[in-house]
Amino acid sequence: MEKPIYLDYNATTPVDPEVAKEMIPYIESFYGNPSSSYSLGRSNKEAVEKARAQVAELINCKPEEIIFTSCATESNNLAINGNAMANSNKGRHIITSEIEHPAVTEVCKYLSSQGFEITYLSVDQYGRVDPKDVENAIRKDTILITIMHANNEVGTIQPIQEIGSIARKQNIVFHTDASQSVGKIETDVNKLGVDLLTIAGHKLYAPKGIGALYIRKGTQIENLMHGAGQEKGIRPGTENVIHTVGLGKACEVALRDFKQNQQNIQVSRDRLLNGLVSLIGNQVHVNCNLENCLPNTLSVAFENISAHALASFISNDVLISTGSACHSGETTISSVLQAMKLDFRTAAATVRISTGKHTTKEEIDFAIEVIVNAIKKLT
Ligand code: PLP
Repeated sequence: MEKPIYLDYNATTPVDPEVAKEMIPYIESFYGNPSSSYSLGRSNKEAVEKARAQVAELINCKPEEIIFTSCATESNNLAINGNAMANSNKGRHIITSEIEHPAVTEVCKYLSSQGFEITYLSVDQYGRVDPKDVENAIRKDTILITIMHANNEVGTIQPIQEIGSIARKQNIVFHTDASQSVGKIETDVNKLGVDLLTIAGHKLYAPKGIGALYIRKGTQIENLMHGAGQEKGIRPGTENVIHTVGLGKACEVALRDFKQNQQNIQVSRDRLLNGLVSLIGNQVHVNCNLENCLPNTLSVAFENISAHALASFISNDVLISTGSACHSGETTISSVLQAMKLDFRTAAATVRISTGKHTTKEEIDFAIEVIVNAIKKLT
């Protein structure tokens, strides 16, 4: 067992060995520009198109509805800002939630500075948006609804299907940031009823530096960059062939191993929670509703413990993240935990533990032992 044990898969995942293997020929040999007409270029164009089909298959859309980007942040910018720019003549109102990643919230803030009006919907104690609140927030000038599929910090899964049917009835474009859900739970764009969906490569065992945006046929998006017309002109710039090939393979592997991976991440997460509860149950407060949560994610507070002290105390053995930021001795609670109205003590004691497809029983048992020992020492 290699230490430290990595239990922060919502932050990023390692590159899958099958993905790395697929990328190597494009690092070592196939360096042609996909726009070149000779075979060295054409084969790279074919590789990009193969990857597009692999991504499309995972989320059940047509390959031509996939645009490759550099990351989820870029996909969110393209979806939200691009849609707002294309439709500003129809209206300037956007609906989002209080628990979005900054890659959505900051785009909304920017648009607000450009004359758009943003409604931030509140959430319940588990971080869930009520579809009725979405319906009630819709106005004549609403052009876009953007609500994430699953939350990165607490794992809460949003009622995307219900929101999708509301959006469809009202003819409003619906975007979801699915950075955390793709590969972990089903992300069929037709079942979800979304028009735009964000994918992050590095949360899915592809490398960092590659993402994708699903754009349903007919959805208007104004490109944010202007250039030589690659990716239908929506995202110009010479293609990142190496990483695109990696993302394609990662999606193929995610689809092939979906059931097995989903079972493993959930069994590991549940083993971890059960182990902690059986040893220090009176100190464990689970923040998420596990019935409606990503199968790999556990947001948990340990009574009378500083999450920062715990995470740093165990960091040679186990890697986890916290629900607060600590700068110069001051603790700031994450906006997600604030939106869930968690009291300060619980929020400051909250850690996020997220398992991965290769997490083993031995790793989990070791993590339980390390966390419990640390808690005993820190209380
Ligand atoms: N959206 C969600 C839900 C995320 O969890 C993240 C990363 O943590 C992002 C967007 C941004 O991803 P990236 O930094 O790869 O652009």
